Formats: sequence, structure tokens, C-alpha cells
Amino acid sequence: MVEYQLKGRDITNSDVLNAFLKVPRHLFVPENLVDEAYGDYPLPIGFGQTISQPYMIAYMVQALEPDKSLRVLEIGTGSGYTTAILAEIFKEVYTIELIPELSQRARDLLEKLNYSNVTFKIGDGSEGLKEFAPYDRILVTASAPDLPPPLEEQIADGGIVVIPINKGFGDILYRFRKKGDEMKGEQLTFCSFVPLKGKYGFGEYRYE
Ligand code: SAM
Repeated sequence: MVEYQLKGRDITNSDVLNAFLKVPRHLFVPENLVDEAYGDYPLPIGFGQTISQPYMIAYMVQALEPDKSLRVLEIGTGSGYTTAILAEIFKEVYTIELIPELSQRARDLLEKLNYSNVTFKIGDGSEGLKEFAPYDRILVTASAPDLPPPLEEQIADGGIVVIPINKGFGDILYRFRKKGDEMKGEQLTFCSFVPLKGKYGFGEYRYE
């Protein structure tokens, strides 16, 4: 996975590559999909949600310009795999998930793996997580209609937000940098994510 899917493309950050070597992805996928855990694609994790493709996670984390001195907020805990990758590279990780069962499952697993720098919250991450703001970095792992205004408030000056946005023409990954009162955005790449739900997302979460 690391050799071909990450290094073989454009993942060059050694902290990111080392984190992917360390975190056992097969523990984060459903038991019946363990054989496919290191495949070059996303996998279902229940509740209509997915664990993202390894490369896309690596790309997003590299785009955050990670550093061991920084605090990061992840919106969309999902399986907790990205959370563990972030925990390897950042000082503190805050992660918020809308679906309580997913949050609890990720929390149990990360505790078992001895991660002690992660704070889990259940709730609507489209509103950010005011309690521990400001953050040096924010990563959104579901596709939003636009940059949610609370994230602009909760990112520190000089901070970076990486977020997939869908304005009706497919998902595009954006990186925003905050400089004073200004948010400067750039488009990074096309991508494909489940929709962000909640107040500043695409409506209420419903799973049938
Ligand atoms: N990074 C995750 C991983 O490694 O497994 C994958 C995340 S999955 C692509 C997106 C997650 O965002 C889902 O678990 C979904 O329930 C969650 N989500 C969607 N809208 C949300 C919201 N408003 N607040 C928090 N989580 C949300």
C-alpha cells in the first residue's frame, strides 16, 4: 500500500508515510472485508458510511502540512483510521462524528491501540467543535456544500482547513488558509466523498 499507492504517486512527506506503515488498517474495516483492507479503494463500514481510500487520506493529511507541534480537528471520525493516522503526526487530535455507534467503535479501538492524544465527540461537526477551538488544522472527511462558517471562526490565524466541497459538479478537494480575517482557498484535486450532514451540510442524517 505505502510503496505503490502512496510513494508511487505523490505522497512524499516522511511523517505521513511512516504513519501509514504503523497504523494497522485491517483493524478498522469490517471482519468480512479484512482481505481487502489494503486495497486501493474505500470500503463500507456500516450506517451507509465508508473508510476512505488510503491514497486520498494520505493526500489530505499531507495537504494539511502536518507537524508534531500542532492541534487538529477532524470532522467525520468514521472508522477512526484517519484519526489514528493524525494521532501519529499531530500533538493533539479532536474528532467529531454524527453517528454515535461509529464514534464509540472508533474510540474503543484507538484506546486499545493506546492512543492517548485523541478526544472523541459525538455531534454535528458542520458546526465545528467550539469547546476546544482554535485549531491549527481542520480536516473534513465528508463533502460539504461550502466551507461551513463556524470552521472559519474556529481555525487559528495561519491555520489550514482541508475540505471536499460539492457545488453540484462533483466533489473538489479545497485547501483554505486563514490570514488575519481572510480565508484564501485553492482547489487541489477531484475526489469522491459521502455527504457532510447537519446544519451546514446537506440536511439531516437518515439511514434506512
Ligand atoms: N475518515 C474516516 C475514516 O478514516 O474512516 C472516513 C470518514 S467517512 C468518509 C465520513 C464520516 O463523516 C462518516 O462517518 C459520517 O457519518 C461523518 N459525518 C457526516 N456528516 C457529519 C457531521 N455533520 N458531523 C460529524 N460527522 C459527520
